[in-house]
Amino acid sequence: MNDSATATVALSALKEQLQTSKRELDQLTLDRNDKFKILQSFIFSLSIACKGHNPELDNKLAKFRRQFDDYESLKNSIADVVDIERLLKNQYHQITISLDNSRTSLTNITNQLLRVTSLPEVVKKELSYFKQDLNKPFHTVWDYVPKLEKLSLFYEQVIELQFNIDSKLDLTPKYQLLAKELLRLISELEFRNEQRDKVSTIQAVLNGEFTADDLLSAYNAIISLLVENLVREKNSAQEFLSALNETLTVVSDLTFTMQNNDAKNQLSKGKLDKKIQGYVGEVESAIRDTNDLDFLKLQVRGQLDQLKTALAHKSEIEQKEKMQLQHSFQNMRNEIGGLSSELEVYKDKLHELQKLNQTDQLTQLPNRAALEDRMSLEYQKLKRKNGNLWVAVADIDYFKSINDKFGHSTGDKALQVIAQVMKNALRDTEFVARYGGEEFVLLLPNVSDNDISPLLERVREKIKSIPFKFKDQRITVTVSIGAAKVHFQEKIEETFDRADAALYRAKDESRDRVIIIS
Ligand code: GH3
Ligand code: MG
Ligand code: MG
Repeated sequence: MNDSATATVALSALKEQLQTSKRELDQLTLDRNDKFKILQSFIFSLSIACKGHNPELDNKLAKFRRQFDDYESLKNSIADVVDIERLLKNQYHQITISLDNSRTSLTNITNQLLRVTSLPEVVKKELSYFKQDLNKPFHTVWDYVPKLEKLSLFYEQVIELQFNIDSKLDLTPKYQLLAKELLRLISELEFRNEQRDKVSTIQAVLNGEFTADDLLSAYNAIISLLVENLVREKNSAQEFLSALNETLTVVSDLTFTMQNNDAKNQLSKGKLDKKIQGYVGEVESAIRDTNDLDFLKLQVRGQLDQLKTALAHKSEIEQKEKMQLQHSFQNMRNEIGGLSSELEVYKDKLHELQKLNQTDQLTQLPNRAALEDRMSLEYQKLKRKNGNLWVAVADIDYFKSINDKFGHSTGDKALQVIAQVMKNALRDTEFVARYGGEEFVLLLPNVSDNDISPLLERVREKIKSIPFKFKDQRITVTVSIGAAKVHFQEKIEETFDRADAALYRAKDESRDRVIIIS
């Protein structure tokens, strides 16, 4: 083949390659445009869903929708995208603030409703549970809406009640308000076991018919119980500190005496040593200087007698010194022994107080404060050891209907049993706390992705199979559970929120279910 023929073959191969590449490029552009269309319609829908919150954001989004025409126009829209992102972040912040404000207003309204005297006990109880539930932050507007619905139901009940008794809403006389305040205070305070009977009696008095005198003595009694607790706490701290102070004084006195004695003894011992050396020196020179053996004997005997006395004296001093030392050590040991038993008592008291503040009184499970402590502990452990940590939120299904049908004390007992069953279903390293109302939070370290579902399903099944019998009626109580695993570099509070969102899904999907998001 000559040169020109070779060149023609190469050229046509090149041409073919070029055409293939062009075809591929066209296909890619088509693909890209298809994908762009999908993205475009997604962004359109999303931006329309954001409409109505903020006029500036609405305008930006409208402009963006107009400009966001084809792939090429994207680069002109980058500045708008940055602006929109800033506005969206701001918007989210504003929503969080207004959700918090809404929560405060709901609490205020609930407080007002609680002041209506004629409300039946049951409604008051429900209202106070509702109020407790409002402590939990709202994450989205959708958390707020059901609360509003509930509150309007409470309003309806109040209005209906007022129509029935055909009188206008009257707020309580001053002393009844004071009684309510005191009852509320009592429910928020922690009392020691031995004080609880007194507290229950006071609660019973205030919940029934009472006189102004009763109210006064109730206030008095509660104040003295609180003062008693304060004094107890203060005393135990003070007792410990003054014991510590006393011991330190005694020990420092003893050390001082010992040093003093030691110095005195050293002085007399030094003098004695000198004396002894003197006698020995004299014996030496007598031996060296004399030839008369009898005289020498006499002299040496005399010196030896003196030496013996001096030595006896020395050992006497040493003995005394030893005794003094032993005595001082014994005193010191006694003081320190006293201090450590004092310390034990103080530790016990502190432990008792700590336990009281960290235990939920109804279920005896750790309370929300204890949960927060444990959460940060488990989280730190996770950071150190790189294992697994799951957070699960469990909420009893339709629990209100148990209260409605069988009364609140039955509801309370059911809560106690469920709490125990839940605790017993877990291992020692796992943790469950009463988060509030009929909600529990579980912290499950070192459970693999495969094991989490069987574990939580077991908890769910165990609760479902509790043989509850109310008023001779067999009742099945179920729970819904949402769980999430702590992600890498995620705060545990964020995991909690995801677990809570999973719980909402479980509630939506017919309840009596476990939903896990890893
Ligand atoms: P859901 O399946 O949606 O969770 O329904 P629910 O009725 O369990 O939930 P809701 O949040 O509507 O009501 C919670 C109820 O729990 C309100 C109150 O009757 C009850 N509750 C909350 N705390 C206590 C308590 O300490 N004792 C008793 N007996 N009941 C409580
Ligand atoms: Mg519930
Ligand atoms: Mg609940």
